[in-house]
Parts: sequence; C-alpha cells; structure tokens
Amino acid sequence: MNISVIGTGYVGLTAGACLAKIGHNVICVDHDKEKIAILNQGNMPIYEPGLKEIVVECMANGKLKFSTEIRSAVENSLVCFIAVGTPPMESGEPDLTYVENVVREIATWMFDYRLIVEKSTVPVKTAQWIKRTIERYNQHQAPFDVASNPEFLREGSAVQDFLEPDRIVIGVETEQAKNLMLEIYQPIKAPVIVTDLASAELIKHCSNAFLAMKISFINAVAVICELVGADVVEVANGMGMDKRIGRAFLNAGIGYGGFCFPKDLRAFIRIAEELGYDFRLLQEVEKINEEAKKRFVRKIKSALWNLREKRIGVLGLAFKPNTDDMRFAPSIDIINELLSEGAKVRAYDPQAMEKAQPILTRVEFCNNPIAVANDADLLAILTEWDEFRSLDLNLIKRRMRVPILADGRNLFDRKTVESLGFTYIGVGR
Ligand code: NAD
Repeated sequence: MNISVIGTGYVGLTAGACLAKIGHNVICVDHDKEKIAILNQGNMPIYEPGLKEIVVECMANGKLKFSTEIRSAVENSLVCFIAVGTPPMESGEPDLTYVENVVREIATWMFDYRLIVEKSTVPVKTAQWIKRTIERYNQHQAPFDVASNPEFLREGSAVQDFLEPDRIVIGVETEQAKNLMLEIYQPIKAPVIVTDLASAELIKHCSNAFLAMKISFINAVAVICELVGADVVEVANGMGMDKRIGRAFLNAGIGYGGFCFPKDLRAFIRIAEELGYDFRLLQEVEKINEEAKKRFVRKIKSALWNLREKRIGVLGLAFKPNTDDMRFAPSIDIINELLSEGAKVRAYDPQAMEKAQPILTRVEFCNNPIAVANDADLLAILTEWDEFRSLDLNLIKRRMRVPILADGRNLFDRKTVESLGFTYIGVGR
C-alpha cells in the first residue's frame, strides 16, 4: 500500500521505517529540512537501536523515501499517518497546532479517497476535529475517513515494540477504514482491537496514565519502606509475582520523565477537568513524581551537608536507558537544583550528551564514567544504562574524593556496594 507518514520524529520515523519493512511503499515527510537531509544521506537524526538498519535496507530497496514535500506525499498515498509532535503548552494542554496544520495541508492536496490516521497522541475527540477540519479545507471534495491508531512504542525498543506489539488499537467509523487498517497491519502478528474513534483515543490516555500511576505508587511505597526499614525492591518483587499486578513499572526511583508520561498525564487531567470530572487520583500521581526528584536531592544534601563547591558526578542523563531523548528527563530538574545550591556537576551519558549540552549549559560533560568520578564528593546514578551495571566500582572509588553513591535507579545491590567501602544511598531501601 502507498502510505505517507507526516512527522519524522521518534514515532513517525519508526512507524514509517517499519511499515516499509513489512512491505508498504512509504514516504516519510517532515518540514525540518535538516532532518530530511540527514536521513537522505543515510544517517539518523535520533538514536534508536535497530532503526538505522531498517531505514538503510528500505531506502536501498526503494520502499522508503524521505521528503519535505507534503503535497506529493499526499497525492501519492492512499493512507496518510499523522505523527507530528503534540507538545504541552503552559496550561498542560497539548498544543495541537502541528496536527491542525498537517490536517489542513492534507485536505488541500486530497484529490480522491484518503484515509487519514491519527498516530500522534491527542486528546479524546481530536479525531472529530480532524474530520471537521478536513471538511472545511477539502477543496476537491474528496471522500475520506479518519482513523485513530495510537502508538505504544517505547523509545529504546521502538522497532521491536512496533513490529511485535502487545496489541494494535484501531478506532474507525467505517468498514472501508477498518479494512484498510487491517490490511496495513496484516503482516504483524498481534491482537487487533477495533473500536470507535473516542475509545481508541482513550485507550492511549488510560494506558499511559495507568503506567505512570504504577511508578508513582511504588515511589510512594518507597517512602514507607525507608520509614520502616524495608526494601522496596523486595516489596515490588513480591507484589509483581501476582499476575493481576505484574512486575513491570514497579521500579522505585527518581520518577518518570520523557516526552510522553508527563505530557499525556497532564493532558488527561485537563480533559477530565473540561468534561467536569476532577481526576484527583492522577493529580496525586503527578505530585508523587515531582516529590521523588525533590527527595533525591534532599538525600544528596543530607549526605554532603553543604553543596557549595561540592563536586557531584552524574551518570545517566536521558530520561531512560537506550535513548538519547532528554525531553522532560528527571536529570534536568535534579541537576539544576544541585547547581542552584552551588554544586559543581560533571556528567556522562552513553547517548544523550549531545542533546543534553544545550539544556544543561553549566554542566561539564565527560567522555566516560571514570572521568566523572574523578575527585567527586558523590556519584549519582540518574539513568539505569546497562553499561553502568558493569562499572569497575573499585576503580571509581579510588578516583573519588569521597565514596558516596546515590543510586537514583536502584541499579546496584546495597550490600555489594557497601562492602567495597561506599556509602550507599538508594530509593526505598
Ligand atoms: P518528535 O518531536 O520526535 O517528532 C515530531 C516531528 O514532527 C518533528 O520531526 C517535527 O519537525 C515534525 N513536524 C511538526 N510539524 C510538522 C509539519 N507541519 N509538517 C511536517 N512535519 C512536522 O515527536 P515524537 O516523539 O515522534 O512524538 C510524536 C507523537 O507521538 C506525539 O504526539 C507523541 O506524544 C506521540 N508518541 C510518542 C512516543 C514516544 O515514545 N516518543 C510514543 C508514543 C506516542
């Protein structure tokens, strides 16, 4: 099938490449000329394991093209996926102007039937707005359908999540739209749920809100664990073995971040408010998440007494491992708080340093974890990269001025670290 994907970011690029990989002819469009130039040279604008190989393969066999021209992409595709950003505004509501701009452009260049698929995460009822907007700008009176097809991929495992998802959610209003969507995903072996438009949109909101709630739940439990001398990892393991609960997303730490959870949760709270429902449960999830970062900084302060002139080494900046994404990373708030108290911060991240540099301008970036540890008064782990699990802690300890390890992701075993002579600060243990 001829498909265009408008918006070539983490989601659009992954979706476009994977749709090409399963046999479709895909044009990925972005108005960012630099991004498209990088891709056309066979390079990647983002770090995502396994994606480059698929992009290179599908470009070579002609299944995948990149362009800044939305017009020819729309003219030549039966299905147009919208995968542009929906960043949060001051109010917490997502900014839907990118979505609207793309919809208007699509409407302008539709000459015959098109299926417009909402892939970006948007508030419930956006599909209805998309329909209304197309009707308004549909210059050639082309017939069309709108579908909602929320994306559940995780950065860091985006390719696998797209090609082997737990489920595919399709919200449609007509048989034609349903059949086209089923045909697109036919090569992917996963359960497909076909719903109305609003239910599909809500499935995305609710899934992210529920996962964020699990994280905040275990972070609240971590506080209790510290108060009673229990170990939150043991508690989570014990809870997680119950199939009704599951172990995933029960990792206590410095809280969630990234482009999705904070923004999607805020958006869901706002939507509920507009609909007349005060979703206090989710407001509490947000509060606990903010508190998790503050508690971690307080622990560092109580370990070091005054922060002025203290050297703090930070390992991990990305909001989670296996990505270079710094958007709403907890590391930003934590590091800024340490800097504002007068600490000197050095940092290392395996992939996110390029993206972190313009955000954390007062941080000294190092090429490896050992350089970060040199003369440090404390070493803080803010992202649980696998590479940190195999660190030579003996060497790190020798390099540090004072061997204190503040493990914001409970990456290490307390006893092991303490037996090496470190003071260990974990979360909820
Ligand atoms: P992104 O910022 O990485 O990519 C968005 C892209 O859209 C950018 O490259 C931008 O230049 C492009 N764009 C904006 N306006 C455009 C226009 N008028 N024409 C052409 N291109 C335009 O964002 P992302 O992380 O890929 O997220 C996209 C959507 O998917 C968001 O709604 C997000 O919430 C949702 N989502 C993201 C993830 C994730 O893990 N990142 C997962 C699931 C869903």
